[in-house]
Amino acid sequence: MRYLSLLFLLALCLSACQVEQDKSTTEAKAIQVNHAPLKAKQVIDRIKEQVTCEWAAKTVDTFKEGNEESPVTGIASTFLATYDVLKRAHAAGLNMVITHEPTYYNHLDETAFFEEDPVFQKKRDFIRDNNMIVFRFHDHWHRTQPDGISLGMKERLGWTDYEIRPNDLIFKLPTQSLQALADYLQERFQATSVRVVGPKDMEISKVGFSMGSPGSRAQIGILRMEEVEVLVGGETLEWETVEYVRDAQAQGRKKALILLGHANSEEAGMAYCAEWLKGFISEVPVQFIPAGDPFWTPAAPK
Ligand SMILES: [Zn+2]
Repeated sequence: MRYLSLLFLLALCLSACQVEQDKSTTEAKAIQVNHAPLKAKQVIDRIKEQVTCEWAAKTVDTFKEGNEESPVTGIASTFLATYDVLKRAHAAGLNMVITHEPTYYNHLDETAFFEEDPVFQKKRDFIRDNNMIVFRFHDHWHRTQPDGISLGMKERLGWTDYEIRPNDLIFKLPTQSLQALADYLQERFQATSVRVVGPKDMEISKVGFSMGSPGSRAQIGILRMEEVEVLVGGETLEWETVEYVRDAQAQGRKKALILLGHANSEEAGMAYCAEWLKGFISEVPVQFIPAGDPFWTPAAPK
């Protein structure tokens, strides 16, 4: 009997040891999981969780280069993955670039037209040779509420106190001349290519802002509004929106246009994107890398 209880005790002890051992193995596994390198796919899965909109089946927000299983050493957010931005990201040890606009010079990043093109080849090879990952984050950054680009841009414009229709980016500013508004924007954005259609001394206060390149119909739709005298936008087809404004002025209407350039009109939204990403990515550094204004103009005001 005594012998049996001893055996029983021994068995109990052994199973307790086993439990301890299992526990420590589980803990080790947990630690291992925490230290496993962050994969590109995990970054995108987290982005999908964080946006307020459904992830669309048809979207340009896809991997343009790199493998989704690749480990991420750091993330650069940018308006556009230019060759220069890619080099700066690589030098900073950031191998994943999240870009708002295309990498390969067309909306769908189609490469067939560029296969033999030396500029394209050098860019693609740089990305591949350095095991970089490029992901476009355009549609869903605009669709999430509030629109990520518009949030960053409102801050950058410095007009948050003047919003009269926040969702439409319509502002009522202190009355000033068109020249003063253009000067303010040039200074604020350190822009090198602001272009203006309209008389310098036109007194204005009602401004509509439009990001990027939404098309002439969207831009003209804003210009038609009673609450808008000046449309501040990114880029446009010169023979559409620009000529609409020119005709409106010739008819005595108080309408003007200021074009900041596409990059200036959206870039601050990708600076904000880096801050947003840091809210749910802590394993690797996240940094905004500006692509900057690609244009310059000779100093010859009209
Ligand atoms: Zn955009």
